[in-house]
Amino acid sequence: MKKKITVLSGDGIGPEIVNEAIKVLNRIAVKYGHEFEYTYVDIGGCSIDKYGAPITEEGMKKCKEADSVLLGAVGGPKWDSCPANIRPEKALLAVRKELGLFANLRPTKLFSQLSSASPLKESVISNGIDLMIVRELTGGVYFGKKELKEVNGEEVATDIMPYSVHEIERIGRVAFESAMKRNKKLASVDKANVLETSRLWRKTMHRLAEEYPQVQYSDILVDNAAMQLIKNPTQFDVLVTENMFGDILSDEASMLTGSIGMMPSASLSDTTLGMYEPIHGSAPDIAGMNIANPIGTVMSAAMMLRYSFDMKDEADDIENAVNKVLDKGYRTGDIMQEGCIKKSTSEMGDLIVSEI
Ligand code: NAD
Repeated sequence: MKKKITVLSGDGIGPEIVNEAIKVLNRIAVKYGHEFEYTYVDIGGCSIDKYGAPITEEGMKKCKEADSVLLGAVGGPKWDSCPANIRPEKALLAVRKELGLFANLRPTKLFSQLSSASPLKESVISNGIDLMIVRELTGGVYFGKKELKEVNGEEVATDIMPYSVHEIERIGRVAFESAMKRNKKLASVDKANVLETSRLWRKTMHRLAEEYPQVQYSDILVDNAAMQLIKNPTQFDVLVTENMFGDILSDEASMLTGSIGMMPSASLSDTTLGMYEPIHGSAPDIAGMNIANPIGTVMSAAMMLRYSFDMKDEADDIENAVNKVLDKGYRTGDIMQEGCIKKSTSEMGDLIVSEI
């Protein structure tokens, strides 16, 4: 198969970790007879420096024309004082919006080799943590009308949280389909005891649940979900929720694994075009030192093969290779444990390649 991948390496450690993911993709291409064609586009601070904008129109066009987009990370202290309309993160929101990336998938998996890195007690995680958060990404309070006005001499701020049935239904379908491919359990997180949007959310999810009788469906209030993720995370398979709840819960969940450098994510649209990126930022404190953990980006590339290119065996191959490297005791600095062998970013990439 021939696929066009637009690569947004970004800032800080972005280029270093993306480079390792490309090495891995190239190995997959050779092994399985695929052709991956890469187009590199500047995004974030490096684009601001070159063009005065966090992404150019031409760059955006290259994202839209691709079969898929691979992102490193954007931002850094150098651009913290840029005006709000040309901040590095603006480019990310713009790409999400222009590509219609309404579904954010964040698998949260505790690698058994790294269980001591989890902040949770051994008794809580002994069955392993392996869950998927499906977050709605282009609706809700982050995109609703915002207002700051003066009422009776004091400032009053309002953020509107709109959701329509079609927005709920399309993210719901992604979540049910995702559950079908996993352990067929789906918990829908809402605040239906208080919010009108949550009541519509719940009604729509219940209607969808009838179409997926094989999926064990449940509703859970967001406050309880936050608690259960700490108390008993192994009860969950797939969780689906709206934009802001998902933003908060997915960060909470990622910490259960204790290693931000390991976690991938996928942002999906109505078509097979998606954007894949590690969940961490540009880590300016370790940029250029060849010590960042590339595994989150490598696992994001695996998600790209699985979700955008329907290459299941190839994705499994990458995930197995990462497991083998960890089994052999190789670690980057962020996940280093006693008795293990410390490796640089590029060495870790080479080790993963050698296991494919
Ligand atoms: P961060 O995720 O970049 O770093 C937090 C900590 O984790 C740092 O100590 C860093 O060294 C470490 N870390 C992160 N990724 C690592 C990796 N792969 N291997 C080893 N250690 C790793 O978060 P931050 O410091 O709050 O943000 C830095 C910049 O990144 C900011 O400008 C922020 O806006 C931006 N950011 C970008 C994205 C994105 O591009 N999607 C996401 C979050 C933050």
